[in-house]
Amino acid sequence: MRYLSTRSGHPEADFTDALLSGLAPDGGLYMPETWPALSPEAQSGEYAVTAREVMRAFAGDALPADAIDRAVSRLVAGFDAIEVTPVVRLSERLSLLELHHGPTAAFKDLAMQLAASLTEAALTGSGEQLTLFVATSGGPGVAAVRAFEGMSRVRLVVLHPLDRVSPVQRRQMTTCMADNVLNLGVAGDFDDCQRLVKQLLAHAPLRQTGRVSSVNSINWARLAGQIPYYAVAAHALRSRGVTGAATYVVPTGNFGDAFAGWAAGRMGVPVGGLVAAVNRNDALARALETGVYARAAAQPTMSVSMDVQAPSNFERLVFEATGRDAERTRTVFETFAREGEVRLGDDLLARLRAEVGAQSVGEAETAQEMRRTLAETGLIVCPHTAVALAAARRLDTTGPVMALATAHPAKFAEAVRDSTHRDPPPAWVLEGLTGKPERLTRVQPKLAAVLAAL
Ligand SMILES: *Cc1c(COP(=O)(O)O)cnc(C)c1O
Repeated sequence: MRYLSTRSGHPEADFTDALLSGLAPDGGLYMPETWPALSPEAQSGEYAVTAREVMRAFAGDALPADAIDRAVSRLVAGFDAIEVTPVVRLSERLSLLELHHGPTAAFKDLAMQLAASLTEAALTGSGEQLTLFVATSGGPGVAAVRAFEGMSRVRLVVLHPLDRVSPVQRRQMTTCMADNVLNLGVAGDFDDCQRLVKQLLAHAPLRQTGRVSSVNSINWARLAGQIPYYAVAAHALRSRGVTGAATYVVPTGNFGDAFAGWAAGRMGVPVGGLVAAVNRNDALARALETGVYARAAAQPTMSVSMDVQAPSNFERLVFEATGRDAERTRTVFETFAREGEVRLGDDLLARLRAEVGAQSVGEAETAQEMRRTLAETGLIVCPHTAVALAAARRLDTTGPVMALATAHPAKFAEAVRDSTHRDPPPAWVLEGLTGKPERLTRVQPKLAAVLAAL
């Protein structure tokens, strides 16, 4: 399998290039040259079988098949649900796909666990070492720590703003005692952490000591790792006698999860429709409504992992909707980067609307949805999941609807209590974190201080 860039369109890389570098050299995002079709076995409902086939197809001959099998086995072993991603029926029409049974109780585990194992395998093949940086205000850093801990060829450096991440998420990172993980508490804010990672990636002396890269949501391997559960979900509905292809409602930030659903559809999974549910950070919903994709200031919400101004994986959908026109995709996103907004054009807008819908849900409605879901089903959901459930209520389809549950409610206990006046059920992975020793290096928000800590 070869990979092309959304901005140049030439096959130029294999899976490991895409895995280790993340972004294509021309600033575009990697896309597979073709969409492989899933076999009937890969649609028979067993997560591991599906994941192995999906990842083998995308890896092509860049990685040995047994490395992929080991990566999938490691992921499955770290989940507390036999189905890995179980489906819960909420009503005749509505189901919930639970993606939070992994080691950090959030859906990023699914992609990050696979990407980490495959990164280690690729580096073993080439004999290289890699330093990976991640700037985080919570979720992605936690998932990366649990995915990369103990790897011998990857050193993970996590920069979080000191005293500005939730205590639970801090402990999930800092209680890791693996020698290849360095937690830096930066005396500054999240923007400082991001700036420092950019400076580190550009620092020539550091680059001379070995490969450096960052954990990011545009990595193709991470996207690919989110495709299998759509096939598992579709099978779960079929096996319960539900007829018709479901409409998937996806809590959306960077549009990675939703684009994986689009890709699953292209690979033969019955996907009846795709709806990106966003909070009041609604650049995507406004683009689909007005035809103007415009950046706006980020607004803090309860569904913090979706507080994204410009969803990075939207570029992949635009690439497909233009019929893989790299020139046009480049123009759209270069204009957006330069001007802060871009008009999509009527033809492109019509084709985007045919592929995906979007619904924006405000804070009050999210809180109300958490109460309604509890009252109607007895289930306490996290705020991200509530955004999807509220969006699902608005759909006027008679067919089955599948909302994705992206985090365990215990991770967002405060929002749950504020909205429902109830405590969330405990999550086993969060138990016993309090009182465990923490390991953390405090640094000033300066490049020299971070380099000294390294
Ligand atoms: C990252 C995240 C999302 C958004 O996923 P994208 O792929 O960025 O759209 C939704 N919910 C939770 C809990 C997340 O951590």
